[in-house]
Amino acid sequence: MHKEIWIGSAVGLILFLVFLGINVTPFLLVAVVIGIIFFMLMRQQAGGTGGNIALGRSKQQKHVIPRSNIQFADIGGQERAKKELKEALDFLVYKEKIEQYGIRPLKGVLLTGPPGTGKTLMAKAAANYTNSAFVAASGSQFVEMYVGVGAQRIRDLFKEAKSTAEKNNQDSAIIFIDEIDVIGGKRDGQQQREYDQTLNQLLTEMDGVATSDKPRVLVMAATNRKDMLDAALLRPGRFDRHISVDLPDKYAREQILTIHTANKPLASDVSLERVAQETFGFSGAQLESVANEAAIYAMRDGSEKIEMRHFGYAVDKVMMGEKVDREASEEEKRRVALHELGHAIVSEHVRPGSVSQVTLSPRGQALGYVRQNPMEDRYLYTKDALEKQIMVCLGGAVAEEIYYGGRSTGSKNDFEQALGMAQEIVQSGMSELGIVHLQYVDKTRIHDEVERLLENMLEKTRALLRQCDPVFQHGLKTLWDAEVLQGDEFRAVLKQYVPQQQEVAV
Ligand code: ATP
Repeated sequence: MHKEIWIGSAVGLILFLVFLGINVTPFLLVAVVIGIIFFMLMRQQAGGTGGNIALGRSKQQKHVIPRSNIQFADIGGQERAKKELKEALDFLVYKEKIEQYGIRPLKGVLLTGPPGTGKTLMAKAAANYTNSAFVAASGSQFVEMYVGVGAQRIRDLFKEAKSTAEKNNQDSAIIFIDEIDVIGGKRDGQQQREYDQTLNQLLTEMDGVATSDKPRVLVMAATNRKDMLDAALLRPGRFDRHISVDLPDKYAREQILTIHTANKPLASDVSLERVAQETFGFSGAQLESVANEAAIYAMRDGSEKIEMRHFGYAVDKVMMGEKVDREASEEEKRRVALHELGHAIVSEHVRPGSVSQVTLSPRGQALGYVRQNPMEDRYLYTKDALEKQIMVCLGGAVAEEIYYGGRSTGSKNDFEQALGMAQEIVQSGMSELGIVHLQYVDKTRIHDEVERLLENMLEKTRALLRQCDPVFQHGLKTLWDAEVLQGDEFRAVLKQYVPQQQEVAV
């Protein structure tokens, strides 16, 4: 709109000057020079931020990804997602049948799920499975301050996909757009015009894809914010196949670890099943990182093979961050050791065999930590399980109370977790308040119930830990000397000094 006003005003001004009998040639020359400079600046800007726009063709073909050899077999787990995707891809494979039945071509597949779960891998494997050309771009590449540039990039992306397929004699092309939410977010009428134009262009291009098109184009997009997407993108005929790519379960984690350790020398003590068991909640990308870090630790150690302990270090690193050089005072270190032993003793008591490692060296934000083995993947928690985990969280603070007469700031995170779980108990209708709706129940009643639950758990934890002084004393010495105690080593101390551990009354 602005452009038109400017052009109109300029033409008006020139006519007015001519009417006054003024020679306009020098003005016109200056205007042409300014126009050329502006044009060149626009061109440089658009090229410099990494894209193809109509004005700058020199960077075309940059979205084409060299043929990768990723196959579905190289993706660990995700069996359901792979099956659904393969079914969706059959329209590219069995083209004649699709035409024979007059089936509307599938135009868009949306992969949703947390980061690092293998969505990009899926798209690459899909291109190989269907022998398609593969072009990829990320939503953020279309974001430009100049109106129209993003839309032009979308047009170029589709052209690029088709021309690559034609050049390689392929019947189909897959366009992969990562982070689609950047351009496909809900339009609330207040967003910038640029976003709207880019999204409209994508919709127009997708609408233009026809069954008879050669090469056939399939758009695959990935997001971890499906709820943010504009309804226009999700309606039938556009991204109407939604495949969720979730965090892997234990079996899938083992498969992913197997894939990423296939080229690595593993010692005979390595059990990938145990590593998988201890990495509940890890994504595929994190598991790849665990395998890689374990190999790096082994190399640094000068060890010929990667041993189980290297995997332990690697899991810690990926979970907690790199070791830090923060040197604590002796007194602080002792407090941290007792705090961690408090967590570990309670953990073994409520779930025997659940301690994987007790560590006294600072990593990330933590001065020490206990890694618990989840034993099995859990998606559902009973009141009993939550209460036990609350006790584990409170164990550190209670140990500090017993040995120092008070708490420290080191328990802040533990309390946050304990509070979260106590609230979960109340909100899930497992507390004495019964089934409650947060909106209609007095906030103080919720607060009082959460407080009552936590007090109760604190008492139980105190009662348990007060009986464990010999474990604290010997555990402290062993942990102080070794800095890291593996689960079995810790259990040996526990067994020796509290032989009747299972019977400790709570
Ligand atoms: P984002 O949402 O952050 O873009 P993504 O879901 O697209 O992530 P990918 O880029 O596909 O994740 O995966 C990152 C890396 O993690 C892969 O290169 C691979 O090494 C590893 N990875 C992730 N999932 C798997 C899996 N299921 N099997 C094997 N490797 C995996």
